[in-house]
Amino acid sequence: MKREYLIAVDLEGIHGVVGEPYKSLYPEVADYAVALKNAVKEINCVVDVLFAAGAEKVAVWDNHGTGKNLDFSEIDTRVIRVENPPMPRYERFSFAKDFAFAGIFLLGYHSKEGSFNGVLAHTYSSQRVQYFKIGGRTMGEAEIYAYIAGELGIPVLFCASDDVCVGQVRAAIPGIRTAVTKIGKGRNAAQFIEEEEVLRAIRAGVADALRAPNEPVRLTYPCAIEMNYTRAETAEAVLRKVKSIGQDARYGETTHIVQSVLRDFRDLEAFI
Ligand SMILES: [Zn+2]
Repeated sequence: MKREYLIAVDLEGIHGVVGEPYKSLYPEVADYAVALKNAVKEINCVVDVLFAAGAEKVAVWDNHGTGKNLDFSEIDTRVIRVENPPMPRYERFSFAKDFAFAGIFLLGYHSKEGSFNGVLAHTYSSQRVQYFKIGGRTMGEAEIYAYIAGELGIPVLFCASDDVCVGQVRAAIPGIRTAVTKIGKGRNAAQFIEEEEVLRAIRAGVADALRAPNEPVRLTYPCAIEMNYTRAETAEAVLRKVKSIGQDARYGETTHIVQSVLRDFRDLEAFI
C-alpha cells in the first residue's frame, strides 16, 4: 500500500469558529479570517504526523465554497496542492487518479442541515437543501464524501470537527478516528476547546488512524434516495433533470421532496 494521503479541508468545523446568523462563512464574516488562520494550524499538525509516520505524499484540498480560501504559503511546503476542478461533485475526487491515496483526513467539515447544536450545520447549501436521505439515512457532506471516496476504494480515516459532526461521522463510518474541535451549542454558538488541546487530539487521532486504518464504506445499489429541498422550484428542476437522464423520480409528501432510486453513485450528481 502506497503511503499517500489526502487532507480535505472545509472551514465551518475548524476550532474557534461559529460564524454569524443567516450567513455562510465567507470573507464578509469576521470568523472567516479566524477559520483560515486556525485551519492552517490543524493542517500543519496533520501533515507533521503523516510525514513522521513515513508518508510519501500528502495532498491538501481546499474544499470550502470555490476552493480558493487557504493561504498555501502558510502551509507546510512538503504538501501538494490539489485544485477543486470545475466539474460535478461526484467527479471532484478525479484528482485521486493521479495519486494512490491510502486514506483521507477531513478537517473543518460540519454537521448536516438541521442538526441540533451543530455549528454552521448545512448540507451543501442552507438556501437549497433541507435533507439528503440515501438508503433511508440522512447524510451530511462528510458522509457523502466518504461514500464517494469509498467508490474509489479509499477510506476516510479521520475527521476533526465539532462534537455534533463527529457523532454523525462515527455513526456512519465504522472505525473512523476523530477529534473534537468545539462543543456545539447552537448554529452560531459553541463552547470552545483550548487550541493546544484540539491540536493534541488531532495528532493523537491521526496517529491512531495510521496504526489501524478503517475500511472504505460503500452503498449497495440500487439505493433509495429522498431529497428535501428548501424551495419547491429547486425540487421541480431536479425532478425534471433526473427524469431527463432516464432515471425514475417522483414527488414525496410535498413538492419540496424528490424520491428516486440510484442505479450507481453517478446518479447522485443530478440531486446535488
Ligand atoms: Zn464549507
